[in-house]
This record gives sequence, structure tokens and C-alpha cells, in this order.
Amino acid sequence: MSLSANTRVALIFCAFISLLLWLFLPYPWMWFVRYVDSVPPVSYDGRIQFNLDNLKKPKNETEIVNIVKDAYQSRRKIRVLADGHSWSQIAQTQDIMISLVDYAGIVEYDRKALTVTVRAGTPLHQISTDLDKMGLAMMNLGSVAGQSVAGAISTGTHGTGLTVGNLAENVLSLRIVTGNDGQVLTLSANDNNTDLFKAAQVSIGMFGVISEVTLKVQKKFKLKEIRTHHKLNYCLDHMDSLVKGDHKYVKMWVEFNNNFCVLYQTSETDEEITRIPTLEGFLIYYSFAIQTRITYLLPFLTPLMMHFVNIIGFGCDTVRVDKSYNIFNDFFHLPVHQEGEVVVPYSHAAEAVRAIESEVLIHQHPVNYMTEVRFVKGDDIWLSPEYGTVPGTCAITLTMYAPESTALQYFNAVYDVMKGFNARFHWGKHFKHGAREIEQLYPKYWEFKTLRAKMDPKNIFVNKFLDEKFEI
Ligand SMILES: Cc1cc2nc3c(=O)[nH]c(=O)nc-3n(C[C@H](O)[C@H](O)[C@H](O)COP(=O)(O)OP(=O)(O)OC[C@H]3O[C@@H](n4cnc5c(N)ncnc54)[C@H](O)[C@@H]3O)c2cc1C
Repeated sequence: MSLSANTRVALIFCAFISLLLWLFLPYPWMWFVRYVDSVPPVSYDGRIQFNLDNLKKPKNETEIVNIVKDAYQSRRKIRVLADGHSWSQIAQTQDIMISLVDYAGIVEYDRKALTVTVRAGTPLHQISTDLDKMGLAMMNLGSVAGQSVAGAISTGTHGTGLTVGNLAENVLSLRIVTGNDGQVLTLSANDNNTDLFKAAQVSIGMFGVISEVTLKVQKKFKLKEIRTHHKLNYCLDHMDSLVKGDHKYVKMWVEFNNNFCVLYQTSETDEEITRIPTLEGFLIYYSFAIQTRITYLLPFLTPLMMHFVNIIGFGCDTVRVDKSYNIFNDFFHLPVHQEGEVVVPYSHAAEAVRAIESEVLIHQHPVNYMTEVRFVKGDDIWLSPEYGTVPGTCAITLTMYAPESTALQYFNAVYDVMKGFNARFHWGKHFKHGAREIEQLYPKYWEFKTLRAKMDPKNIFVNKFLDEKFEI
């Protein structure tokens, strides 16, 4: 059968478009469903499907109160779903789902006192751009900014910098519509009842619906990021001087197979904005895009392909200056992937990274992305992974672009190794701890449970995941 010239062109065109979609949109359907509506019907990685049959989208606090009161009277369950950026089942419920997409924006700000009050559904990227117009900025951010402010603080989401706390640590006060018949409480560090505030700062949505958040912010600032590459051994041997040196925000991207480490050292600056060199952005994004697709199918090629990324993506050292939030957030998006995170006391940082390196090399886990090593100041927030640590923690993000079973095999193996370091986990990432381990790792576990029962006596804000972890 001979095809006409037009048909052949059409077929080649379709094949080319399919190749592009495969390379750059790993789950086109998921990308479509997540962005076609403002409330995501699936989680970031598409694994968790949310039941939106009983979705409520309140537009103000009174509507939130009424939804909670109704659930209290009729003994129903509620979860708030923000941007579904969590890999753990913390936002899941088969009953009432609340989305605060219609309850977003800045309520007020104070340039002198350096504070801002926002509605809980506001995405972090919106807060950054709105603050920028007012000459203000968030003190720190994680690597993406799609999360809502309440979602991010509820899980202890963090950026990097041993002198900078996680996002919950920047909270000055919270308004919560509690599970106690919709009673609204304003909690702050200055109250008599600081216990309640310390418990509510990272509460995984168990106290009720956070309605407003007041954050401490700072005058807007620029950052200069210096990116260099080294042997991993060098970075681990000199960790203390690198992390506690002149730079306030330091992170490492580690690649175990080739003993490779990309070091990001970042400080405030008055220099002119340079933005991202276009070539740099292009090389990193596309080398990862191609490499992850190939190693997903052929995992044995991982060490070789990662070597290729190390050279193409990170072979040159770079310097860039930009607005703070443009530097805190990664400037390119990794293909949809799986993430786990272990958080160890800073004093064990180098030792813990070496233990993960041994696990990867001995058991040949196909780790086809950089392992992110970040640092967070210690705090006194009851369920924060940084609780009670001095000077803070080392948060090691395990990332893999692979079938879920392969990723979980790797994460679980590392979680087991990390038991020796008393590692805590990130509440929003693949999570393995059971109730007994959580109890051991968080000294305020029982006090948290007691306050939770007062805030939500009918267990409205509980789902299967939380029931297991907190034995409610
Ligand atoms: C690509 C990617 C990058 C990431 N980068 C980082 C990073 O750099 N650092 C880091 O620490 N983490 C990071 N995370 C994890 C992420 O920040 C957390 O899982 C975060 O909680 C997700 O926020 P969300 O707004 O999507 O909330 P969801 O995942 O929708 O919800 C999280 C929890 O918060 C509760 N919640 C949300 N809103 C409210 C409210 N108003 N009242 C009460 N409870 C509420 C939900 O019920 C749920 O229990 C990343 C995740 C992804 C997918």
C-alpha cells in the first residue's frame, strides 16, 4: 500500500508530536486534568484520586464555619484539599472536601512591622508577587510555589538555610475554624496559650480549617546564587565550613553514582539582576527530560546517563542574581516524579548522606535525579521535623522518576537505614513511620493528641492516614 505525500507528512508530524509529548509531558492527561480546573482532581503525581462529589468552595470565613458546623451536627468528615502537592495521603477523604481556591489574597500588610495577613487558600507564588509590589518578601521558600500557604505550613514545608526556619516558623498568628462546632480561634505566639499555637503551627489539618495566616516577612531583597560543582567527598568533608560559612542559604544537589555534588551558595546582594542564563536553563531542563525518560525504561543506564547530565547540565559553574523568590524556587520543573524525605539532626548530616550513598551504590537503586540536601533552623513547633534541634536539621530529599514500586523500594530502604540517625520524615512526602515511631521521635506527640481531641472532639478532621499515625 503506498501512502500519499500528504498522508506521510501527516504521519511524520503526528509521530514527532507524540515524541515531544512523551519527552516533556510524562502524563499529558494528568497535566490536563490538574490544570483545567482550579481544584485538582488528582495529586501532583496523579497517584491519589480525590473524590470531589462533596466539594465545597467557601468564599468567606462564615461559609467555612457553616460547613464545619453542619459536619459537626451530622458527624461527617472533612479534609481541606489545597494544591494536592503532597505524596502522602494527608489530604484524602471520601466525604466532604473543602477547597479554598475562592478564598485567597492578601488581607492586610504592615510595612513597618514587616507582617502580612493572607487568606489561607493563597498560593505561595501569589504571595511572593503581591508582596513584591509592596516592597516586601517572604523570608524563605521551598523549591516550588504552587502550594497554598496553609498547605505548606501545615506540613512543615521548608527551603534551605541553617539560620532560617521552615515556613510554619514564620507564622505569627493563625485563625482556625475548629472542629469544635466551628468555633473560630485566633492563636498567636503572644497568647497565654502558647501550647495551642505551637501545636497548631504544623497540624496537618487536624485542628480544623485554617482561615487566615499572619506571617513575618522582610523588605524585598535580591539574592546572588553561586553554583559550583565538586566531588561529593569534598562537600561532605567540608560540610561545616560550607553550610555555616558566609552564605545564608546553602543547598547541595548530590549524585551518588559519580560522586558528584552541585553546591549552591546564596546570599543577599545589591547587585543588578542577571536572571538565568538561557543556555543554562535549556541544558539542565532538557538533559533531565531526556535522561529520566530513558532511565525510566532502562534503569541500568542510570549511572551513565547521570554522568551525561552532570557534564551537560552542571559542567559549568554559574552565578546569577535575581529577586529572592526567583532564586528560592527552582527555575525549571522536573518531570512528574516521586519524592521522599528524611530529616536528621544537623550534627549527623554528612554521616547520613554517606549512609544513603552506600545504600544506593550497594543495592544499585536507579536514582535518576539529584538528591537534594538542605538545611533548616531548629524550632519549638511540636510536630515540626525541626522540633528541638540545635542548630537545626539536614533535610535530605530523595527523588526518583520511576514506577512507584521502584521508587518505594528505594525510599523504604533509605528510611530503614535512617532509623539509626533518628530521622524524621516530611509529612507531605512518601511516609512510612507508624504511630510508635512518631511517638518516639516527637516528644510532644501525646500532648498534641490531647489538644487535638479538644479542638476536634468528634474527629471530623481525621482520615485513614491520620487515624493510623495518631491512633485516634
Ligand atoms: C514538586 C514539589 C516540590 C516540593 N518542594 C518542596 C520543598 O521544597 N520543601 C518542602 O518542604 N516541601 C516540598 N514539597 C512538599 C509540599 O510543600 C507539601 O506537601 C505541601 O503541604 C503541599 O501543599 P498543598 O498546598 O498542595 O497542600 P495539600 O497537599 O493539598 O495539603 C497538605 C495538607 O495541608 C492540609 N491543609 C491545606 N490547607 C489547609 C487549611 N486551610 N486548613 C487546614 N489544613 C489545610 C491538607 O488537609 C493536608 O493535610 C514539594 C511538593 C511537590 C509536589
